[in-house]
Amino acid sequence: MNRSDFPILEQSVNGKPLVYFDNAATTQKPQVVIDTLTDYYRTINSNIHRGVHYLSQKATEAFEEARRTVQAFINAPTPQEVIFTRGTTESINLIASSFGKRFLQADDEVLVSEMEHHANIVPWQLACEQSGAHLRVIPFNDAGELELDHLDNLLNERTRIVAVSHVSNTLGTINPIREIIQKAHAKKIPVMIDGAQAISHIPVDVQELDCDFYCFSGHKMYAPMGIGVMFGKAQWLNEMPPYQGGGEMIQRVTFEKTTYNELPFKFEAGTPAVGDVLGLKTAIDYIQQLGMARIAEREQALLNYATEKLSAISGLRIYGTSAEKTSLISFNLNNIHHFDVGFIIDKMGVAVRTGHHCTQPVMDHYHIPGTIRASFAFYNTEAEIDQLAAAIEKAKQMLG
Ligand code: PLP
Repeated sequence: MNRSDFPILEQSVNGKPLVYFDNAATTQKPQVVIDTLTDYYRTINSNIHRGVHYLSQKATEAFEEARRTVQAFINAPTPQEVIFTRGTTESINLIASSFGKRFLQADDEVLVSEMEHHANIVPWQLACEQSGAHLRVIPFNDAGELELDHLDNLLNERTRIVAVSHVSNTLGTINPIREIIQKAHAKKIPVMIDGAQAISHIPVDVQELDCDFYCFSGHKMYAPMGIGVMFGKAQWLNEMPPYQGGGEMIQRVTFEKTTYNELPFKFEAGTPAVGDVLGLKTAIDYIQQLGMARIAEREQALLNYATEKLSAISGLRIYGTSAEKTSLISFNLNNIHHFDVGFIIDKMGVAVRTGHHCTQPVMDHYHIPGTIRASFAFYNTEAEIDQLAAAIEKAKQMLG
């Protein structure tokens, strides 16, 4: 579907047509997004918000229009609650640092899950170290599903925030975040969602979810690298201190005291990545033209096809078998090291990811050092999945 929109996919690698199955790490970019970047630098490149001149006003208007596009895409109540960051990692660091300074005290608790990406563990550990709070963990079962029976006990009077992923980048599991949010809210505990792996696969409505924070990266949804979003409810953002100091985030600076700008600028210190923000807007327009429902349907078909094909390979074990999954498969082949399998698959022209995928606790759960992960986007094809299956068979033959 719409494969020809992505020029990078036309090349050959190791003498074979490129098969790109590393979409969970980053998606490829359609020509319209690439054009947006070059058009921006050719026509309106200028620093925003601070200039009265023509180019600065044009760039400012385009930048703020992009913010409204993101607002509508995730159905945020206001554009002021949409903060541009460098990506999910920076969004979570912002929340952990700023929320932590304002709301975490000694012996408080922060609740994450066992399947989080390191980007949703380490910032909270840093915040806990600074405040004396403790990290608590929702476990998952061998199918890769969160064990929510534990949730009622884990959510207690010391819990200050819950931070969980919408979709696991290693297992593909779509977590029941509505249920988690409802249970946490019943105890007046806010919830942050790491949406890095959900945003290109599932329609996200932050008002319907009623999440307090939602984070994602542009580059995992066909937009440029280096741009991301942190949605936060104004009620929290107004109470949280700035994350970084500098230009744009101030109202008035004197050597005695500085007052801060209003939302969203309070959290956007320094010159932002204007071209990349415009690229994000184009990517959202592109996704909406294709239609989220069509994308999801196509990706589920690819997932079903790949699951069937790969399950038929003897000695192949899939990690993450939840009924609710996005389009990725993590696996290992017999006891062969994941790196060796990945190396041979790459030589066959198929790009997959090997390793712990920044989820070492997930690897510890299964007592393995890593997996091979194939992650699909709508532009992939069944023929490419056949090529992956053939490459795995070849690896099995060669590595015994
Ligand atoms: N969270 C999840 C679930 C991810 O998959 C990733 C990246 O793979 C991140 C966070 C970090 O995203 P980024 O590197 O774009 O900041």
